[in-house]
Amino acid sequence: MIIPPFPGVRNTRKGLSADALYDLVRNAFGQLPDHRHPKATIPLTDAISSAFAMFSLKDPSLLAFDERRNDKNMKTLFGIGQIPSDTQMREILDPLEPDLLRPLFHDVFRQLQRGKALEPYVFHDGCYLLALDGTGYFSSNKVHCNSCLEKKNKQTGEVTYQHQMLGAAIVHPDHKEVIPLAPEPIQKQDGSTKNDCERNAAKRLLRKIRQEHPRLKLLVVEDGLASNAPHIRDLGESRMHFLLGVKPGDHEFLFDRVTEAFEQDRMTVFSWNEGDVTCEIAFTHKLPLNESNQDLLVNFLQYAEYGADGHRRKYFTWVTDLRVTRGQARHLVRGGRARWKIENETFNTLKNQGYQLEHNFGHGQQNLSVVFAMLMMLAFLVDQVQQLCCPLFRAVWKKLGSKRALWDNLRSHFRHFTFTSMQHLYEVILHDLAKELPAPRLDTS
Ligand SMILES: [Zn+2]
Repeated sequence: MIIPPFPGVRNTRKGLSADALYDLVRNAFGQLPDHRHPKATIPLTDAISSAFAMFSLKDPSLLAFDERRNDKNMKTLFGIGQIPSDTQMREILDPLEPDLLRPLFHDVFRQLQRGKALEPYVFHDGCYLLALDGTGYFSSNKVHCNSCLEKKNKQTGEVTYQHQMLGAAIVHPDHKEVIPLAPEPIQKQDGSTKNDCERNAAKRLLRKIRQEHPRLKLLVVEDGLASNAPHIRDLGESRMHFLLGVKPGDHEFLFDRVTEAFEQDRMTVFSWNEGDVTCEIAFTHKLPLNESNQDLLVNFLQYAEYGADGHRRKYFTWVTDLRVTRGQARHLVRGGRARWKIENETFNTLKNQGYQLEHNFGHGQQNLSVVFAMLMMLAFLVDQVQQLCCPLFRAVWKKLGSKRALWDNLRSHFRHFTFTSMQHLYEVILHDLAKELPAPRLDTS
């Protein structure tokens, strides 16, 4: 059954609708070098586009996606000529170098810049807030590949194989949507038997982000694990400002200097009330980060909330290279607290809101697990851009009440009817046009 296009909400910014973004991504996939024999039956573009479509549709498994092999929508909406079987998709994507997918994130980012959709994300003095954090998404005692991290149980000798990634996303305290940049896998490096670690991955990621975005002004927000001297020096070399969580237990030397600054009246302190809650900010400048790096001076910012009983309920502390002023301190506190968006709005969404980051879609021998994780992040980026820029997408989401219902509807409409575009599909869902149709498409030819 073909439903005619329906005129509706059409004020999505040019280049930022689902159709424009799927086109953009599909064209970029087409530029990737094919590592296989020139006579390979399924084009690489089709295999990568298929994986991207699977994550865009939130199919629960490769097997579920396999049922789409005769679906005309795959050609019309995702531009896929030949859909590979699940086995073919795994074989084709396994040798793909994950870094080849990084430019795709940049292409979408550039569209956002062109569409002026990023301007509201500027946070402080022309800088965007860039939240960085690591997460694990695969763990097994049996399944493993060449790039798995290996953790050996000291008592039993049993090896656990893992995959982790360092994620990066532009966030803003006033906006729910996050704009992920390409993540960096934390994995065993080529020719190395030594496991990678988050700090090395961060070094690589900062370098790559700087290459991709040479002039982008960034203020990096991270948790307490990041407030160490080598990483702060890496941030400086990458010309990035920082606002990093810091904990008294991990930075005793620094917090002794903080106590001294309070005692010697070198701390600027001010407070205000919000209902029964008293909020207090304190800051000072040029404290040594730790005993062994006394030449590395950082500025210190603290935020606390006290209940009516005087009991401290919330307490956050950061170190930063930015000069803190009374006028800007509250704003910076909001920026520091927006760091959780990479955990909550990014990783938790990918794990629990239909994307299934922790599901094993296929592990492969070389890069498959990493390639799938990158493509899922790319599909998430495209979804976030739609959510940010496409009124039609937002209207459908609002009507259905949840993302889960939205993805379910998307899949069932996709299965039963034939559409001319994603806009067409969203309009049909929004205006309930499908239920007026006689019968769902039953043939699968
Ligand atoms: Zn692996």
